[in-house]
Amino acid sequence: MRLSKSRLIAHKQCPKRLWLQIRRPDLAQQSEAVQNRLAQGNMVGAAAQAQYPEGRLIAHVNDLTSALHETNEALARPGDITLFEPALRCADILVRADILERRGSAYRLIEVKSSTKVKDYQVTDAGIQTWVARGAGLNVECTELAHINNRFVYPGAGNYHGLFTHADITDAILPLQEQIPAWIDAAQRDLAGPMPDIAVGPQCSDPFQCEFMGFCAPDVAEYPVAILPYGGKLARRLIDEGYADLRDVPVDRLSREDHLRIWRATTNGEAEVMPGAAEKLAALPWPRYFLDFETVGPAVPLWPGTRPYQKIPMQWSCHRLDAGGTLAQLPPFLETRGDDPRRAFAERLVAAIGDAGPIMVYNATFERGVILELAEAFPDLAPALRALAGRLFDLLPLARQHYYHPAMMGSWSLKRVLPTIAPDLDYANLDDVQSGDMVEPVYFEMIDPASPAERRELLKAALLTYCERDTLAMVKLAEFFS
Ligand code: SF4
Repeated sequence: MRLSKSRLIAHKQCPKRLWLQIRRPDLAQQSEAVQNRLAQGNMVGAAAQAQYPEGRLIAHVNDLTSALHETNEALARPGDITLFEPALRCADILVRADILERRGSAYRLIEVKSSTKVKDYQVTDAGIQTWVARGAGLNVECTELAHINNRFVYPGAGNYHGLFTHADITDAILPLQEQIPAWIDAAQRDLAGPMPDIAVGPQCSDPFQCEFMGFCAPDVAEYPVAILPYGGKLARRLIDEGYADLRDVPVDRLSREDHLRIWRATTNGEAEVMPGAAEKLAALPWPRYFLDFETVGPAVPLWPGTRPYQKIPMQWSCHRLDAGGTLAQLPPFLETRGDDPRRAFAERLVAAIGDAGPIMVYNATFERGVILELAEAFPDLAPALRALAGRLFDLLPLARQHYYHPAMMGSWSLKRVLPTIAPDLDYANLDDVQSGDMVEPVYFEMIDPASPAERRELLKAALLTYCERDTLAMVKLAEFFS
């Protein structure tokens, strides 16, 4: 069986994972967050290649034979050379390196990563690439990881000089080189046999979230003990003791107040509403605003003055409720042209939201952080923005303290709460954007000039509806408690 670097890494994480990837790929479930990360990785790869204008791309993404042929042909030419995605083979392992440079007779291999720090598995990963390259006859004298420099501030005009920090890991991979043949043998042996008998454990999320969780750990219980928030170790102990369903767990095994509440509501099969929320809300003045933001955080900054992964607010939605019960949606903001959205976001928000009345949000830490960062970026708007941050009222702690429904499955996210108080507004009824993980890829597709106009309009509508759903969910929640 021909292996790749990714397959060897999968085997190192868990032999069963590799076996399933090869024999039963149909059982894999990729999350939106993983797909989002892959899209980020492609942007980072393109930015890294742009640092080497002399570089030549070995394409043939799905045709390894042609990629090998083209790589060999390029390497056979005399002189210095820089290749992107060259295909290299040694024994049964075929890899695509990110960047391979030859200066004189020495090679430098660079693996590009979208993380802001070097991680252990990346060293292993680059160790395999180097082993294969050396086995293919290349004199690799230096191996580096190019990862994102999170202090980089984009000056604009396509200048990404300084976006990457290069870590020389030539020495760090040395001890791995002699272990790799044994890794290959073990992977080949496991692949030739039946499915390895391995139970779920810490390896399922380290270093990657395994895509076969749904197969290896199907929800055999209606209310798995794993729904207990911050209850990882406790849940593992309970599972080891034979408790799968939370309703079977003796109450004296739980001590946290939220665990006890979840247990009670789940066991009784009824929502639990604790008194006191209505009084807290009644004390708030009018009008009341319900506000939600969306942000994007590209690894490769798009707008001058921004950093990698900086949260850039590009959309808000707000509803206003007055003392008489009239609810009105303020004209929403969504930047659609691909410009830096921050200034317009802040100006429109300050102008729209008035200067009095509480602003309800869900998880104020996030909104407050975004508003204060905008205040830093735009000093002329800072007084208004800081005043706005001072009016935030967080509905999340109110929900945590006063409400739990068994269908929330241990979570107080709006997506979990809303269907239990307003089933007609369930996020699952939305089309292109149903969760926060989908906002970023949809936004980037929407502002991409290459996207067809009709598609862009569709995505714009999906983003507007999604953000509006969040604010409506908060309105419903406040109504529910009042
Ligand atoms: S879910 Fe865990 S046990 Fe199952 S294949 Fe993945 S890593 Fe292995």
